[in-house]
Amino acid sequence: MSRLIDAVRARQPALPTWAAAEGARLALERARGALAGGAGGEAADRDALAAQAAALAAGLATPHPRRVVNATGVILHTNLGRAVLAEGAARAAFEAASAYSDLELDLRDGDRGDRLAPTARKLVSISGAEAAHAVNNNAAAVLLALGSLAAGREVLVSRGELVEIGGSFRVPEIVKSAGVRLVEVGTTNRTHPEDYRRAIGPQTALLFKVHRSNFEQRGFVAEVDLPELAAIGRERGLPVVEDLGSGTLVELAGTPLPHEVFAPDRLRRGADLVCFSGDKLLGGPQAGIVLGRRDLIERMRKNPLARALRLDKMTLAALDWTLAALLEGRAERDLPAVRALAEPVASVEARARRLAAQLAEVAGDAAAIAVEPDASAVGGGAAPGVVLDTWVVTVRSRSGPDRLAARLRGAPLPVLGRIRDDALALDARTLREDELGAVADALAGALAASSR
Ligand SMILES: *Cc1c(COP(=O)(O)O)cnc(C)c1O
Repeated sequence: MSRLIDAVRARQPALPTWAAAEGARLALERARGALAGGAGGEAADRDALAAQAAALAAGLATPHPRRVVNATGVILHTNLGRAVLAEGAARAAFEAASAYSDLELDLRDGDRGDRLAPTARKLVSISGAEAAHAVNNNAAAVLLALGSLAAGREVLVSRGELVEIGGSFRVPEIVKSAGVRLVEVGTTNRTHPEDYRRAIGPQTALLFKVHRSNFEQRGFVAEVDLPELAAIGRERGLPVVEDLGSGTLVELAGTPLPHEVFAPDRLRRGADLVCFSGDKLLGGPQAGIVLGRRDLIERMRKNPLARALRLDKMTLAALDWTLAALLEGRAERDLPAVRALAEPVASVEARARRLAAQLAEVAGDAAAIAVEPDASAVGGGAAPGVVLDTWVVTVRSRSGPDRLAARLRGAPLPVLGRIRDDALALDARTLREDELGAVADALAGALAASSR
């Protein structure tokens, strides 16, 4: 073991001791496993063992999450951390984290304060809702809403809305984990008002509507829209809760987003509560925002679960800053996600051409560089049918797009593109001006590696 650790440190002197030791331990564990499995030859090779230990150690010592360059064109990419925070929001989080604050103190009388009240106040001002609440993420908002308003009872959901938003959020499972019985109404493709009316019984606590965030239904389909569902709720005295998934608090003119993402309008159309993510179209930190009726929000706030799902001070500071930017009409200027959504295609094209010029310079005749029109996705379960016009720089090299994409991912500052036909496409809509040089450096490295 100590000889292996020395071998790791000889290969990578800059590695911290804990990582070298842990890498060596893991490599030995694997080698023993391989020996027990009968694959003796490979495991006995000292050099290979040291190389493996060094690679494991380097992986362990790498900070996480690491910065990457998003050239996929997907603005709200869940795997890449969704919305990029505004610089001011990130600074607010830094300040909240690096000094004491009045997080739960009222500075006027020195008494205990409410950590969320000032931010909830901003949510109310901007949305016109009666009340607002915010928790750790939208899944938590759904869990808290259902658990507070329907525990031990039934909620009605259309079979066309029993969606999965990426492995860990599935409507039937989250309903169940809130201690609520799910009553499915309608069919996969068609649900009618009568389906809801027939399913309502003495145990029904609320009507739950879920936005189909990541797919569309076309063909022989029918759904009960929000005003119709709200009418049924009023008729039977049942609250209507909508999981909007991705919502905005201001109308984003100049973007092709459908009107239904505008959260305050969902309340006007009859939802008693609407919840959505902070780090999707809102353009803020990870959070779950809930807007709606004061009595329902009060029940959520009083639920002991609210404490378990509450926002931490850094997120709260970033959210508060983001809401102030929205209130002051600075969304397009200050929030990177909103800016990327609203950027005119001509400006995206100009950046694509500047990138292409830099790439052509490093590529020489090792790759063919071209600038082409294409379409970007909003992502983040925001608007599955919506595409944004964009421009991409395509790179065609002898090694093929998959190999090139892998090399760019392995760059010191990893670059993520998308593969289109036989080329790697780098989408300028999600690239920042100050990242173009990093993309050129990554391409230079990738092409040098493939020529070796
Ligand atoms: C994204 C999404 C969620 C989950 O939101 P998180 O903030 O990731 O927890 C839940 N419901 C819908 C409809 C969504 O689109």
